Parts: sequence; C-alpha cells; structure tokens
Amino acid sequence: MKFGTKAIHAGQVPDPSTGAVMTPIYQTSTFWQESPGKHQGYAYARGKNPTRSALEKCLAELEGAKYGLCFSSGMGSIDAIVKLLRPGDEVITGDDLYGGTYRMFTKVFAHFGLKFHFIDMKDANNIKKHVNDKTKMIWLETPTNPTMQIIDIEACAKIAKEHKLILAVDNTFASPYLQNPLALGADIVMHSVTKYIGGHSDVIMGALCLNDEKLYTELAFIHNSCGATPGPMDSFLVLRGIKTLHIRMERHCYNGRIIAEYLKTHPKIDRLYWPGFPDHPNHAIAKKQMKDFGGMISFSLKGNKQEDAFRIASSMKVFTLAESLGGVESLINHPATMTHASIPKAEREHAGVVDSLLRLSVGIEDVSDLLDDLKQALNA
Ligand SMILES: *Cc1c(COP(=O)(O)O)cnc(C)c1O
Repeated sequence: MKFGTKAIHAGQVPDPSTGAVMTPIYQTSTFWQESPGKHQGYAYARGKNPTRSALEKCLAELEGAKYGLCFSSGMGSIDAIVKLLRPGDEVITGDDLYGGTYRMFTKVFAHFGLKFHFIDMKDANNIKKHVNDKTKMIWLETPTNPTMQIIDIEACAKIAKEHKLILAVDNTFASPYLQNPLALGADIVMHSVTKYIGGHSDVIMGALCLNDEKLYTELAFIHNSCGATPGPMDSFLVLRGIKTLHIRMERHCYNGRIIAEYLKTHPKIDRLYWPGFPDHPNHAIAKKQMKDFGGMISFSLKGNKQEDAFRIASSMKVFTLAESLGGVESLINHPATMTHASIPKAEREHAGVVDSLLRLSVGIEDVSDLLDDLKQALNA
C-alpha cells in the first residue's frame, strides 16, 4: 500500500463489537479478566489501550517500521530513548537542536552522569572525531530547528554501524511523508506528533518507530514502567488528523516554496533558511533523502534588531504569533525569546539563532492571503 492509503487505513479495521468504522475512543483505565491473567490482550491502559494500539500500528506503517510506541509528549518519547543509556555513556548530537531537547540533555540527564557532545554535523565525518569507547548513541534532527541544517542520515548510519552506536533521528520537521530515516539506516525514529502528524494544533503527543526487536522490548518496558503514555481521546484525535497527512504535506510544501521564493528577494531580509534553495548547505542531501522541502522557513533581518522582528511578528494578521509548528494554520515564532529561550545566548547565536530571526510554519491557507500578510507586516 502507498502512503496515503496507509495514512487512512493502517492499523484500523471496523470495530469487531459494533462495526464502527472509526476506531472507538476506549475511555477506560482497566479491562475485564475472565480469570486472573486471562484477558483479550488488554489489562491496564497505561500498558495498552486499543485506540492507542491502532495509532501505534498506523504510525509504524507510515515510517516503514515494525513497531510504534506513542507517548504523552515528544519530550516523553525522547526521555525514554535517553533511559536506554547508563551513567558514563556518551551521546554525540548536533549544535542546532530543538530547545527542549537541549534543555533535557544539559539540565536533566547531564546530572545522571551522561555526557553530550554538541557538534556541527553538517559534515557527518565530524562525528568520527568525537567517538570514543564510551559513545553509545548519535542523536540527530534534520532539518534542524530553526536554521534548517540538513544532516546526511545515511552517512551517519554508516558511522553508527561501524562503531555499534544507536542512531536516533528526530523526524518531526520532515514528518514521515517527506522522510523515512529507518530506510536510510537509522535505528529509532522519534516524532513530536504534536506537529505535522497531529496537524491541527489540538494535541500534545510523541512517538517512536523502530524495527529492532531488542530495542523495542527495552523501550516498551521503559514506556510502561515510566508511564508517559497518552490517553485514548488524544490517540483518537491523532488517528483523525493523520488521515489527511499526505494532502496537508503537499500543500505545506507548495505554499512553503512560494513564500520562500518571495522572501528571498525581499530587501529587508538578511539570511533565509529553507532547504529547497540550491545554495542551501547540503541541498543535494535534502534532495536525496527528502521527498520535498516542507513548509518551515526561517529568516533574519538586515541590521539584526530584535525590535524589528517583534514589530513584524506582532503585525501579522493571518499568521499567528505562537510557539509550535506543523498545524493547518500558519504560525510565526521568535526563536530567541520563545522556542529557544532556554539555550544560552552565545550558543544560540553560534547556531544562527540571532535576535532578529523569525521562524514561519507555513500552513495550508490560500497562499495569496499568506503572501499579502507577509508583505504588509514586512512594510509595517
Ligand atoms: C516540538 C518538538 C519536540 C518536542 O515535542 P513535544 O510534543 O512538544 O513534547 C521535539 N523535537 C522537535 C523538533 C520539536 O519541534
């Protein structure tokens, strides 16, 4: 089956008890047992719930994975991956990470004796310089947030295999529609389902997809033991959102290209980050590993003044000034004070997150309205 068909049907069959076409919201914490331990596959809903199981199967199929696990947030799913490690272990990761991931690594897990190396991964060979006998994992995001760095997943997977490291990829920005890291050699794919997969800015959720049975058994154990599992209502909302993922992504990419091309020639714009431009660093790799370039665009302003960025952000009428991304509605965000405020100034500026940087999550509205909105706000 192809992607769009899987998005609508994978993991879902008419409910055997009633014939309901939509997977019911099994709003129950516990399940009847005929005699102790004898049940129909479900005992207690932290471990397993049928609405969640349908979603986990659907997501796994979209990533070309055997196994899927859904978490109560993207951060909950990253937390489970880090718990595969032991004190003394080291992780090699990028220098432009989602702010919350950076905060979890440095402010939570560094205290448990784990060491994180934040390096420039645009050239995958850089990774080799940081591998030692304590290295256990490579954690990468591509495209990165917010400067759209493209990391070569296949090259990283080769290095990971050579040194027996786990390669985990945060695939939130691409969504399974644009990129499938497992097919490129990654071991674990992570999603903030909150973003494109949910797609309607109404749910917080995370997910992991993978093929390796041993890793899955460990992660499923952590999932149930630590308990960051989502409820059935949220699972239902995501099952519903996912049905249009392929259609939404097409429009995100179409609108994104038109807006990126408009911004590229605008006299007030200094740097523009969108992986679809031939002069974007690693554009050739983006072309190779992604189906299209997505609707995430960042730009900085000439003169680099925060007040100019604030004025633009507050003048938007169709774009909403808010954190998050990937929903049907267009959003604008000021990373330095919003999504990336937890990263020290020197480090964020090194990664390109300067005071005038603005990030757009281009939605699926009529693109002419989005263009008009940007025009009036840039001239405000
Ligand atoms: C939002 C986001 C996360 C965290 O996910 P939550 O669902 O907010 O917990 C992780 N990585 C990336 C790239 C994100 O955009």
